[in-house]
Amino acid sequence: MLAAAPGHQAILDADAGELIVDPDPQTQPDPAVPRRPGQAASGRPAAGRAPRELRTADGEPVTLLCNVASAAETRLGLSGGAAGAGLLRTEIAFTGASSWPSEAAHLDQLTPVLGLLAGRPAVVRLLDFSGDKVPPFLRPHGPQGLTALLGAPGALDHQLRAILRAGAGTRLAVLVPMVTSLDEVALVRAALAKAAAETGAEPPELGIMVEVATTAAAAGEFAPAVDFFSIGTNDLASEVLGVDRADPRTRPALAADPRVLALIGTVARAARQTGIKVSVCGDAAAEPLVLPLLLGLGVRTLSVGAARVPQVAAWIAATDTKAAARQATEILAAASEAGQGAGQGAGQEAVREEMTR
Ligand code: PEP
Ligand code: MG
Repeated sequence: MLAAAPGHQAILDADAGELIVDPDPQTQPDPAVPRRPGQAASGRPAAGRAPRELRTADGEPVTLLCNVASAAETRLGLSGGAAGAGLLRTEIAFTGASSWPSEAAHLDQLTPVLGLLAGRPAVVRLLDFSGDKVPPFLRPHGPQGLTALLGAPGALDHQLRAILRAGAGTRLAVLVPMVTSLDEVALVRAALAKAAAETGAEPPELGIMVEVATTAAAAGEFAPAVDFFSIGTNDLASEVLGVDRADPRTRPALAADPRVLALIGTVARAARQTGIKVSVCGDAAAEPLVLPLLLGLGVRTLSVGAARVPQVAAWIAATDTKAAARQATEILAAASEAGQGAGQGAGQEAVREEMTR
């Protein structure tokens, strides 16, 4: 997008995740005609489909999921071969809300999405009203994000009950955003047990987003308290590198910076040592420079934008994890020789373990 010269016509196809600069007038879509899911703006079908059993070039099994906020995105991701949803961003439907959503409002939003995911992984993230996703009723002062959710009477309970009801047929998991303390995890786990008792559901797995630098650095302390980690490279890279997410210089490839990579290695290692699952759901998972490094650090579950699934599957199939691990260790070693910050040691340790696994 930054490379496009000013003054040109462009079409942003938000369903397909494509910006088409200087579109061919012959193939320009009629905006009044709805398209089938999986069909790009140009009328071309989305490229390929991820295989059911996805493996790297050296035979490592990888699970590829999709990031969604709507039923349309979920259909697109599944039609591209995603095994399920690795990140359902529930806050997107409510960024214009005038109060905390009721249980009924959550159900209205969740039912069409989770209905498509029967028998499949469905990782539902709790409302993350932070950054650029803060609704009018929380602006401009006062707590935001997880702090606001935990502090608003009934808000968490309403969402959890709706998640358990709408997700009954799925392989459901609940994901807590922006976690900074074990107390937050304990609060959500207690609320989840209460909601499960009220709805007659089995308590699903509970995981945390690792997207705050101090949480990533202390991953070993969080691991015994949760069922899985999901690494949010968007917020993590932004904080570690001091680049605002709204800054045009922000891009997923920044996660290849050794300061970020070392933290990802720390998280992957803590998960492996504790025996919990770890995935990456930030945009770096769909970035061809960073994806092999994530695989090299031992990550085997990735969740990417719904429109990116076939392309990312092809990149995964072409990656040799041993070569990728060597590449990751070289980046971390070069950074530590150059004395760039603390933490590379842990990242290198993660790679060493991965290479001898
Ligand atoms: C992230 O921060 O990487 C992430 C996946 O969460 P979001 O982009 O919704 O903040
Ligand atoms: Mg985030």
